[in-house]
Amino acid sequence: MNHWKALFTLCAMGLLLGGAVPAPAGKEPKVVLISIDGLRWQDFYGGADLKLIYNKEYVKDTIATHTNFYAEEAGERRKLLMPFFWSVVANQGRLYGNRDLGSYVNCSNRMWFSYPGYNEILTGFADDKRIWSNRKMPNPNVTVLEVVNKQPEFQGKVAAFCSWDAFPYIINEQRSKVYVNAGFEKSADLPLSPREEYLNRMIDIIPSPWNNVRLDAFTHEYGLEYAKKHHPRLVYLSYGETDDFAHDGRYDHYLFAARRVDGFIKEWWDFLQADPYYKDQTTILVVTDHGRGTEPLNTWKDHSIDIPGADQIWMAAFGAGVSPDGEVRGHAQLYQNQIAATVAACLGVDYTNEPTPGQPIPLTH
Ligand SMILES: [Zn+2]
Repeated sequence: MNHWKALFTLCAMGLLLGGAVPAPAGKEPKVVLISIDGLRWQDFYGGADLKLIYNKEYVKDTIATHTNFYAEEAGERRKLLMPFFWSVVANQGRLYGNRDLGSYVNCSNRMWFSYPGYNEILTGFADDKRIWSNRKMPNPNVTVLEVVNKQPEFQGKVAAFCSWDAFPYIINEQRSKVYVNAGFEKSADLPLSPREEYLNRMIDIIPSPWNNVRLDAFTHEYGLEYAKKHHPRLVYLSYGETDDFAHDGRYDHYLFAARRVDGFIKEWWDFLQADPYYKDQTTILVVTDHGRGTEPLNTWKDHSIDIPGADQIWMAAFGAGVSPDGEVRGHAQLYQNQIAATVAACLGVDYTNEPTPGQPIPLTH
C-alpha cells in the first residue's frame, strides 16, 4: 500500500495538501496520545524481569512482587503486568517494538532522556543542538499539539495532562495556547466540578515521593474529568511514575506503577467507548520517551547515551482506523520522530514542521 493510500485507510478519510480536511458527517476523528515514561520494551513484552523481582536491592517485599507478577512464561507474566494491553489492545490494535519478533522502534535523538524524547514525540524531529537537558526551557520548536490547536475546528479542543512539571515548557503553553495541566498544578478550569474540587484538595495533602513529578492518579483523574466537561479532540496524557520509581531503584514500585497505568488506559477506553462523541471515532496511541538498560543489571535504573539500549522503545495503537494485527512482526524500523505525524494523520490534519518531521506510521496493513 502506498503512503497516501495508507493514510486514507488509516483514518477513513481523505488527506489533502495544505490544511485540515473537514471530517465526514457523523465521523469526526479524535486522538488520545499517551506516554508512559521510560517503561522498557523488555518489561512490556516480557513481563516482570526474573533477574530483578527477587533482588533484595531493588524489591522490598519479594513475596508481594512474586504473588502479583510472577509466572513461568513471559507471555503469562506480561498479562499480569499489563492485563488490559494483553487482552484488549493485543486483540484490537497493533503493538510495535518487540525486538524478539523483529519489530524495531528507536529514538532518533542521541540523548535518550525525557525532554529530548518528548520533544521528538511531540514535534516529529530530534533537536540535539538545542534540546540536550531537562532544564525547564520554553521549547523553541512547535509541537503537533500546537499545530492542531491552530486549526480553526480544533481551537480550544487540544489539552494535555502530565505528571512531570516540565511539560508547560515542553509544550510551550504560553506560545501554543494549548491547555496544559502538569506537575502540582491544580485545576483552574472554572467552574470546577465537585471532583476537581476534591482533587485540588487531595493534591495538597497526598505527598508525592518527588518534588517535580506528581502521582499519576492526579494526571489521570484531572484529564478524565476535563474530557467529560469539554470533549477535547486531541488529548495528551503523560504518566511519569515508572521512570521515577526506576531512578529510585524500586523495581517493585515500577511494576505496580506500570500496572496502574494499564488500568488508567482501560478506564479511558471504557469512557471513550461509552460516550457517543468519542465512540468508534477515537484512535489511541501509547508511546515511551526512552528505554533503559539491561546489562549490567543495575542499568535498568538508568537511561542516557551512556546506557546501551536506552534508545530502544515501543509503541501501541488501537481504536479507530487501527487494524487488529496484534504484535507487528518483521516490520521496517520505526522511529520516535514518526509519532507526531501519525497523530496529525489520524485527525486528518496535514502536518508540516521545520525541520521535516518523520512520516506517519501506517496503522493498517
Ligand atoms: Zn528518567
